[in-house]
Formats: sequence, structure tokens, C-alpha cells
Amino acid sequence: MSVLVLVEPDDGLSLQALALARGLDGPVHAVSVGPAQVAVDTLHVAEIEGSYAPGAWAASVVQLIHQLSPTHVLAAGSDRGNEVMAHVAARLDEPFAANVTDVRGDEVTRVRWGGSLLEEARVHGERKLLTVAPHAVTAEAPGAPASTQSFAPELAEGDLAVRVVDRVEAVGGGISLGEAKVVVSGGRGVGSAEGFAIIEELAGLLGAAVGCSRVVTSAGWRPHTDQVGQTGTKVSPDLYIACGISGATQHIAGCKGAKKILAINEDAEAPILSSADYAVIGDLHEIVPAISAELRKARAT
Ligand SMILES: Cc1cc2nc3c(=O)[nH]c(=O)nc-3n(C[C@H](O)[C@H](O)[C@H](O)COP(=O)(O)OP(=O)(O)OC[C@H]3O[C@@H](n4cnc5c(N)ncnc54)[C@H](O)[C@@H]3O)c2cc1C
Repeated sequence: MSVLVLVEPDDGLSLQALALARGLDGPVHAVSVGPAQVAVDTLHVAEIEGSYAPGAWAASVVQLIHQLSPTHVLAAGSDRGNEVMAHVAARLDEPFAANVTDVRGDEVTRVRWGGSLLEEARVHGERKLLTVAPHAVTAEAPGAPASTQSFAPELAEGDLAVRVVDRVEAVGGGISLGEAKVVVSGGRGVGSAEGFAIIEELAGLLGAAVGCSRVVTSAGWRPHTDQVGQTGTKVSPDLYIACGISGATQHIAGCKGAKKILAINEDAEAPILSSADYAVIGDLHEIVPAISAELRKARAT
């Protein structure tokens, strides 16, 4: 019996998948494309030239599955983890459960509907193909594998047909939303693209990243890269400040990993208040500049 974990280079979510794998029976093997800092029994490094290609990564995982016969195959619940595991499931013609938070033999608990439902499910495949819901499990520390084996996966021409050919860095280059310790986010209540000046000012004072709701990106006030939520970035800062955001389930799906949520909203009945640890009820156009002014004052003394 063994467990196989797909590890993405420099991805903290993979360390969460590894933590879940530790609780399962048998030695833990990892597979990665390129080196990885993971304290597993054996790290299998697939030698694939060039950039990310989901078909080639899946072919590597399938090859190892045939070699190791693991009972469970896990990956991070990231865009890549879910994409590669979907390819693996299709190639093996077996079911795949995404966004799992707990595994008990062939039974799993998994997150559905953007985090508003926890589903108990039974996975009927010969081996369990799973991804681990982001921020549901505490990541284990990086480490060194007990042994490392390189292998050259047998790739068909089609395995490299889809691959990353270019990368465009996000404009701004400030603190990344996914990694920020503090996020100041604005919603429809901010009122306009220009209205985000006070959000940016507060974020600057706190060393925070700026986020927003989907209404804001749909209106073109901020780029999609700033969107927090089910169809945006999932954040897990120490503090998430939601300004003029109602707290739709699709938005909460992206910020419920925050340790503390502060809501600033003029509506004392807004749904976000049921997720918030702290709330200020009032007009954000007065409250946000007032917080910035207090921060400046405190720093000047
Ligand atoms: C499939 C699907 C996926 C989705 N994915 C996402 C997603 O990833 N992220 C996301 O955010 N949404 C997503 N949505 C949209 C989501 O359902 C909501 O429509 C959206 O989050 C609402 O944005 P909002 O809170 O900014 O606006 P609203 O719901 O309109 O809320 C505005 C809030 O601002 C408050 N307000 C107004 N003026 C002020 C003021 N001056 N001072 C203080 N408070 C004020 C109001 O009281 C209200 O609570 C998705 C929807 C679907 C169907």
C-alpha cells in the first residue's frame, strides 16, 4: 500500500495535500516536474522539457500509478492540480473527487458550491483520485525527500499539444493577493474606479494587497486579477477588510480562509456580517479615510 502526491514546484497548496496524505496508510511517494522540497519517502522527478503541459504531467502521474499501484493519488486543489487530476481520471476512466477536506478509506468529505456545502461521498474507483481543498488542511513544512528517482515519462505527441507558451506578469507588481498578510477589498459600495483611491491608500499604509468583488471587475473598475471569490483568487490573509461588499457565498468562498474578517458596510443586515469577526456600520467613504488618518497619526507619534 502506498500514497502518491502530485507536487507543484513552489506551491504551498501541495504541502497541504501532502499533510492530508500523511494520515493515509503506507509510504508517501511524490511526483513532480523538476525539483521539490518535500519530506516524502521517495520523490519521483519527471524529466519533461519546457513549460507546464497538463497532458504530459498527467501521463507522468499515470505511469507512476501503474508502477506503484497507490491506493490514493492526491494533488493540490489548485487550477493545475485539478486540471492534471481530471486528465488522469479521464485516462484511467476512473472517478475523481475534487476539493476534499478529509479521507476515510473510500469515503471523503469535500467542499461543494463554493464552500457553502460539505458533501460526504464514496469514491468507487480502483484507487482514489483526489484533490485537497485549499486551506482546509494545515500545510506540512518543506523538507528533503528520503530518496529521489528521476524518470523520463513516455509521452505521446498529443501530450505536449497543450502547454504554456508565454507568461505575462500582472501590471503593478505589488504584494500578491494570494500571499498577502492583509487584504483590503472593495465592492460595489466603493462606487467607481476612482473610489478605489481610498482603498489603495489604506492598503498602502497596511502593506496590504487590494482585492475586490466580481461586481467591481464586471464594471471594469479593477482587473480580474484583483477579484476574490469562487471565480477569482482564494485568499488566506491574517486580516481581510471587506469594504462595501455584501458577502455573497461566491465572494465568501474566496475569503473564508482569512484568520479575521473586518466588514465595513452601511447595512447592519448585510450577509457579510455573519462571516465577519469585526464590523463597522457606516459609509465606507468616511470610515476608510478615517482609519487611514488614525494610522498616519499613530505612526507620526
Ligand atoms: C457562478 C458565479 C460565480 C461568482 N463568482 C464570484 C466571485 O468570485 N467573487 C465575487 O465577489 N462574486 C462572485 N459572484 C457574484 C456574487 O454573487 C455577487 O453578485 C457579488 O459578490 C456582489 O458583489 P458586491 O458585494 O460588491 O455587491 P453587492 O452585492 O451589490 O453589495 C454591495 C454592498 O455594499 C454596501 N454599500 C453600498 N454603499 C456603501 C457605502 N457607501 N458604504 C458602506 N457600504 C456600502 C451595501 O450595503 C452592500 O452590502 C459570482 C456569481 C456567480 C453566479
